[in-house]
Amino acid sequence: MDPNPIRRARRTKIIFTIGPSTDSEDMLEKLMSEHFVDICRINMAHANHDYVRTVCQRIHKIGAKVERPISIMLDVKGPEIRTGDVDQPLKLEPDEIFDFTVKPDTESSEGIRSIDVNYPNLINDIEVGSTVLVDNGLLRLEVLEKDATRIRCKVVIGGELTSRRHINLPGVKVNLPALTDKDKADTLVGIEEGADLFALSFVREENDLKVLRAFLDENDGAECRIIAKIEDQSAISNLHSIVQEADGLMVARGDLGIECPFETLPIIQHNAVRTCLEAGKPVIIATHMLESMITNPIPTRAEVSDVAIAIEEEADCVMLSGETTVGKYPIECVEALTKISKAIDQEGKKFTFAKGLELTTDKARIQHSAVIMANELDAVAILCFTRSGSMARGVSAQRPRTSPIFSFTNSTETVRQLRLYHGVVPFQMIFCTEPQATVARAMKILLERGYLKQGDKIVLVSDILASDRVIDSVQLRTVEETSE
Ligand code: PEP
Repeated sequence: MDPNPIRRARRTKIIFTIGPSTDSEDMLEKLMSEHFVDICRINMAHANHDYVRTVCQRIHKIGAKVERPISIMLDVKGPEIRTGDVDQPLKLEPDEIFDFTVKPDTESSEGIRSIDVNYPNLINDIEVGSTVLVDNGLLRLEVLEKDATRIRCKVVIGGELTSRRHINLPGVKVNLPALTDKDKADTLVGIEEGADLFALSFVREENDLKVLRAFLDENDGAECRIIAKIEDQSAISNLHSIVQEADGLMVARGDLGIECPFETLPIIQHNAVRTCLEAGKPVIIATHMLESMITNPIPTRAEVSDVAIAIEEEADCVMLSGETTVGKYPIECVEALTKISKAIDQEGKKFTFAKGLELTTDKARIQHSAVIMANELDAVAILCFTRSGSMARGVSAQRPRTSPIFSFTNSTETVRQLRLYHGVVPFQMIFCTEPQATVARAMKILLERGYLKQGDKIVLVSDILASDRVIDSVQLRTVEETSE
């Protein structure tokens, strides 16, 4: 393996969630230009619209300054239920009787403590005997009775309850719409501020994605891509149709681990990654990847193994949440992911789920030939040229064994979108009218920046002129000290 770090780019992409630990200009510049994060997630459970506007503008500005634009993913909350605000944390005791109230001004009665929930119809969806889990399942309550204004519960597992905590109701079908009014308002701000990806939480069926697609199309967001977050049992039952409809999938292990028995999580993750790779769709593994690094500068050994599994499965991205929103060591987290990813890539053990991808078009067959050629010849890189990004996405879907996919495009939006895909290193460049001149220009950039050196074997997937017609071609080239 080449010792030059620039020629050994990390192939698994890193998504970081922005928050107080990472939202300063200095920190963002470091993360984007020195540690090569790929996507910034804004979690709409915690961000208001002013914050979205400020950080999006900041990220675009820094991307232009350091000439490395990254992608922005707005994570909209879908049918998610949260508690309201409390002035002081409430310490819930086991066996205490506690109310969830659904009218904002409901007084707590009979000295019973209470908190509001943001979904008035919860009373109709929930049954006596149901389990209510709060704050990632840390608090557990059982429903004893309900009336028009409150759900009365007994605390089974107590603990501290703070503001706007997420509520899970395992097995309960919640009748909230796939896209709430808040989601719509959030999405409009995201479109205005140039978000590239919209992650929709608690997707239950393919139709939920169609609702968001229609909303994006009607509101100047037709170019935006949709990531389906699978977080509960309905999503698992409808996995195949959700993957077909989505532009990508997020395995949201935080909620999945509450909504489903936790011991099934590795199986769910494995099936989700396989389903995505066999369908040629990108997949993100999220939550608790380096949780201990919120407070510690190095990962636990178990976390290292967990990250390694996601990389062996050839997931496109791994995602950081609390580690980069409020954690003390955001840079160290990105470094840790980078080290693990490179180590696993170097070792070469992979699950090769992408072998199950069906080749249904001639374009896909050409991309397949390029990947086979690169694998056989141990090519240093695959080079492709793409306006919309589709050629690079297609090559990535076939998971070349070691070769990075250097993808040249003339559009900043495409550069940002391509950050999502395994192994793709996107570059922006003005294309020439003659395909061969475009190739020469790209080679020059790669040589100058140290990605390639004289004598390297590369595979080129490109248009060529043949008898006045532009056709797709796969070529083997040896790099020379060329210039335009
Ligand atoms: C998760 O549950 O793993 C997740 C990513 O969702 P949230 O948006 O609640 O962090």
